[in-house]
Amino acid sequence: MTAQLIDGVALSRDIRAQVGQRAAAMAAAGRRPGLAVILVGDDPASAVYVRNKVKACEEHGLHSVLERYDASLSEAALLARVAALNADPSIHGILVQMPLPPHIDAHKVIEAIATAKDVDGFSVHSAGCLMAGLPGLRPATPYGCMQLIDSTGRSLRGQHAVVIGRSNTVGKPMALLLLQAHATVTVCHSATPDLSVHTRQADVVVVAVGRRDTLRADMVKPGAVVIDVGMNRNDAGKLCGDVDFPAVREALGSNGWITPVPGGVGPMTITMLLVNTLQAAEATP
Ligand code: NAP
Repeated sequence: MTAQLIDGVALSRDIRAQVGQRAAAMAAAGRRPGLAVILVGDDPASAVYVRNKVKACEEHGLHSVLERYDASLSEAALLARVAALNADPSIHGILVQMPLPPHIDAHKVIEAIATAKDVDGFSVHSAGCLMAGLPGLRPATPYGCMQLIDSTGRSLRGQHAVVIGRSNTVGKPMALLLLQAHATVTVCHSATPDLSVHTRQADVVVVAVGRRDTLRADMVKPGAVVIDVGMNRNDAGKLCGDVDFPAVREALGSNGWITPVPGGVGPMTITMLLVNTLQAAEATP
């Protein structure tokens, strides 16, 4: 018997339906939650991401604005656009799609977004709130991973969770969210000598590396929950995650849980962006 699938598409559908209802209730009271997305340059993957984000807003009753600029846009001009959106009362969330062209300081741009509108949760303020256990906007991908784990019905209290990857946008906030949920957390990265020493003991493994087959069948404990954040292409050009999915699913056995790629973390990331935009709008006086 293989592990049960954690269906990110179905979970997204449920959460997005609730978002739609809350957005409609706000609109009925005369206010529509609004998200502004800024894309600089013509990276094809980024263009797809922003289109999907804007489309998801439109489908669920959120107002959205997509601003596209040439890669030659100056840092000063981008900061001026962020300042204008900070002051725009119809916009409750601002997202600047990464990566930015090399002449623009991404950190400076993220810090320029008003704290209340930081729906990506990437600013130092949002990261600080997460670290201090204070309310705030959480980065969408790890926030979505938490919902996926929650949907299995497993409590994280006292569980050993292993996160592979320590980026500011996924690995580190993921570890903090797991810690907040009372898991015992181990964070692994490229200098970890042997990942399997940690993963074989884990009740929950979150893999956010960006390299396929990072987690293999001999690295997991039967009955564990595996969340695959990675987005890679296999030899046939098909989208795949960081986990050797068929073999790991088999090794986890019938008490285990696993997210597929596609259809796991990806749809949840956009869903939690909608949730954050709604939360930001509801918090606006
Ligand atoms: P990132 O910034 O490149 O971070 C990758 C992390 O993996 C780093 O901490 C790195 O360690 C670690 N790592 C690299 N090689 C390793 C190895 N051999 N063993 C253990 N750790 C290793 O990437 P990211 O932004 O966190 O994203 C990770 C993956 O998730 C990518 O495939 C990305 O496309 C995907 N992603 C998906 C979504 C989604 O919505 N589905 C959202 C965000 C990201 P060091 O720190 O030591 O370099």
